[in-house]
Amino acid sequence: TLVLVGTATCGRAAGAIEVLNVFREEAGKRQLDVVVEEVGCMGHCYAEPLVVIAKPGFPTLCYGPVDEGMAQRLVVDFLVNDDPCYEFAMAALEPNDEFPTFEDFPRGVIEKKIILADCGFIDPDDIDHYIAKDGYAALSKVLEMEPRAVIEEIKDAKLRGRGGAGFPTGIKWERCYEAKGSPKYVICNADEGDPGAFMDRAILESNPHQLIEGLIIAAYAVQASLGYIYVRAEYPLAVARLRDALEQARQKGLLGKNMLGSDFSFDIIIFQGSGAFVCGEETALIVSVEGSPGVPNHRPPYPATSGLHGKPTVINNVKTLSYVPHIMRKGAEWFKGIGTENSPGTAVFALAGKVVGTGLVEVPMGTTIRELVYDVGSGTKEEKAFKAVQIGGPSGGCLPESSLDLPIDFDSLQKAGAMMGSGGLVVLDEDDCMVEIARFFLDFTQKESCGKCTFCRLGTKQMLEILTEITKGKGNPEDIDLLLDLAEDIKMGSLCSLGKTAPNPVITTIRYFRDEYEAHINEGR
Ligand code: SF4
Repeated sequence: TLVLVGTATCGRAAGAIEVLNVFREEAGKRQLDVVVEEVGCMGHCYAEPLVVIAKPGFPTLCYGPVDEGMAQRLVVDFLVNDDPCYEFAMAALEPNDEFPTFEDFPRGVIEKKIILADCGFIDPDDIDHYIAKDGYAALSKVLEMEPRAVIEEIKDAKLRGRGGAGFPTGIKWERCYEAKGSPKYVICNADEGDPGAFMDRAILESNPHQLIEGLIIAAYAVQASLGYIYVRAEYPLAVARLRDALEQARQKGLLGKNMLGSDFSFDIIIFQGSGAFVCGEETALIVSVEGSPGVPNHRPPYPATSGLHGKPTVINNVKTLSYVPHIMRKGAEWFKGIGTENSPGTAVFALAGKVVGTGLVEVPMGTTIRELVYDVGSGTKEEKAFKAVQIGGPSGGCLPESSLDLPIDFDSLQKAGAMMGSGGLVVLDEDDCMVEIARFFLDFTQKESCGKCTFCRLGTKQMLEILTEITKGKGNPEDIDLLLDLAEDIKMGSLCSLGKTAPNPVITTIRYFRDEYEAHINEGR
């Protein structure tokens, strides 16, 4: 019998370690023939802690939320006495007559899991679990290929960066490969800092080898000899699991000198960032790794030609790299068969806010916001009226009810004034004041501005002061136009994407919810 307990940070916050201990202690005390494994995030964070029990002769069942009392009961009733406590089970993991599977849930019908497929179902601390799921098979294949052919496959797949901007990954790799300079570097950007976003953390905690394999393949493609994973120090579990995963990969000959008997040598260092949001910007991240304060620089030159220590460097996000092993194993055509023509593949979102089914979801690009909120997320909490989604974090925008049928892909979101960002999606309902929401996100970016550019440093401060006055009922009728003028100036006069996109939440809330600004100003509230 196998018992899986989801112990990513979402599970731990809900008491998963205590539940894990009950299963371990009780199974030990009773000398049951049971293996209790820690796994990562299954995506259904609204029902944490989650427990899966696979007992021969019964459907494999998922229970959640499980507290210590229920864990005791599952041990006695199910593990000892063969009563599966069906009344507590939320789903089965495989088709059977009595229970829906996760795939039968409305969200399961829409979801298409690629990089989340194994999250929550393998032990992230055991490389053999990953290998059993075809892990590192893509790397073995790649090491037999010419680096150029690997780049062509990624270009052909039209994989776009999942860190925010959606730049074509293959073109980035090609520029680095063709650039003169040695050594070359690859960096995984795991500096996830958007409020409401937790996709990268969950992937690192749940399936670190998928990312490591993607990073090694990127390194081989551009012929880099050293890689970094730039991860926030505020993610201690992710750092610990990455560290263990790298050590296990080294022991298997998957990292280091002449990996897997080839003439390619490569290793990876974990670099812990100190939590500055601006370090998610490529040039700031590079100087941070070099040991200086994370302040962005002018581009060009781009990191692909002159990056870390002035050498050609590829920087890709956690999710972008996690797709790479799947594409190399299954081919570019398979990947292009999912999603839309210009945004192939899937989108991973952290679904948060006033939505019933909070959690980690992966849907084909082109899925509408309505499907994401209502079918995947089961709608708003307490059936309150939906008002908007804040998509793409502080650099993204607020989209109203009239945008519910907007397909989620890089280009459609940009046209609507928002952006994919790194994948945070916060649902807002009738109780939320959109001016307050804009103020919240601007307050965040204002505090995170590195201060290098006058417009970003002082312009956002002035916008924040105006917004604060408006929310106190002390705004003036001309404030709305002044905010829009300032927003334009900040976009034009800022060096990096933090400043260029900081006004987005204000611009989109004025565009779609101007009446709320006017109500504050005209009614003095
Ligand atoms: Fe720093 Fe803002 Fe200028 Fe970016 S735009 S470099 S965060 S001051």
